[in-house]
Amino acid sequence: MSKWQCDACGKVHRRNPKNCRSCGHTVLSPYHGDGEEGRDWLWVGLVALTVLIVASILLVALTVL
Ligand SMILES: [Zn+2]
Repeated sequence: MSKWQCDACGKVHRRNPKNCRSCGHTVLSPYHGDGEEGRDWLWVGLVALTVLIVASILLVALTVL
């Protein structure tokens, strides 16, 4: 997911609006700045946590059986 930055005032929007909510300018450019990397690391953490939970469930199942 990309962000959009106003060409006039530099305001960054999460989605592509028809015009800037800050100054009303209509030209916005794709913005690849901060936030994207942090979100990636959040996903890595969630996947790692899921794998850990599944692994512990399997371990418990194997111990019980
Ligand atoms: Zn603007």
